[in-house]
Amino acid sequence: MSDPLDAVQDDELRRQLLLLRANYFTVLDSDRLGEILKGFRSQKGIYKPSGSSHALWVRQTLRGTYPDQEPEYHADGSWIFRYSPEGRQGRPDMSLDTNRAMLQCRDDRIPVGVMRQVLSKGGRTSYEVMGLAYVEDYDGTHFLLHGERIEWETIPALGTATPEPFHPFEEELVRLTPELRIQRDQRFGTVVRKAYHERCSLCEVGYRVRGRVLGVEAAHIIPVGDRGNAADIRNGLLLCRNHHVLFDELAWTPDEDLRVLVADDDDFRRSAQANCVLDWEGKRLPNLPGRAALYPAAEALRFRLERFEGVR
Ligand SMILES: [Zn+2]
Repeated sequence: MSDPLDAVQDDELRRQLLLLRANYFTVLDSDRLGEILKGFRSQKGIYKPSGSSHALWVRQTLRGTYPDQEPEYHADGSWIFRYSPEGRQGRPDMSLDTNRAMLQCRDDRIPVGVMRQVLSKGGRTSYEVMGLAYVEDYDGTHFLLHGERIEWETIPALGTATPEPFHPFEEELVRLTPELRIQRDQRFGTVVRKAYHERCSLCEVGYRVRGRVLGVEAAHIIPVGDRGNAADIRNGLLLCRNHHVLFDELAWTPDEDLRVLVADDDDFRRSAQANCVLDWEGKRLPNLPGRAALYPAAEALRFRLERFEGVR
């Protein structure tokens, strides 16, 4: 599959788009963005480099003139974000260069970088780089931006707000270079952390230290070693390090109703008692994504359950 960015002729602009893609869901402060990103110091809203007919990036500020909405996340790591066009006197004006450049991106399927301002400590302004998105449409009030999925080399199909079928297993693991696999794993981890509110699905432990999320890990329900899908968050769970280790050892598993089953192993039960693990036995995982469409897939849970029953 070819990278949609290959269609961008200007080397410097392509480099900038790659940079925005590489920083998928990372938070950077304004000073840093000013150093690395064209137009960031001078331009708010939509940035169209001079001489280019396409927009390069958009950024949403916390107190923008127009209300934007929270992005809607999908199981493949893509997202939909509605972004207001620029206007004059409080009304969108589609004849503005910036808005026209966005429509050109739509027509040519060239992605734009997307950033959202986030609340930050100590008076510094920071932005969450959401990665790259395709302009799907302009609906009369907003541009509909569709973020790249975890496997970014596939352009999201137009209008795929409906959930895609879940594929439990990977078909073509070998085609990925090591760099791409690392990048994909990182993106998977980021999306799972976000969907599970940065807390363990079982015990709800999760920390943030100076802006970094610590102590939690994205686990695959069907292991990657068994060719489990490594790009769909429905094959994922966010767990604290302890519960991840115990999950990998089949000391516990969620059943198809997401209730916690604990192994019969006497050693484990004795040691787990002191560590409160048995408190969750029979209860439903308390921390799940906000939308049921992002919950672990039944096929993945069944695979796990079968393994668990095998050693129980
Ligand atoms: Zn935990």
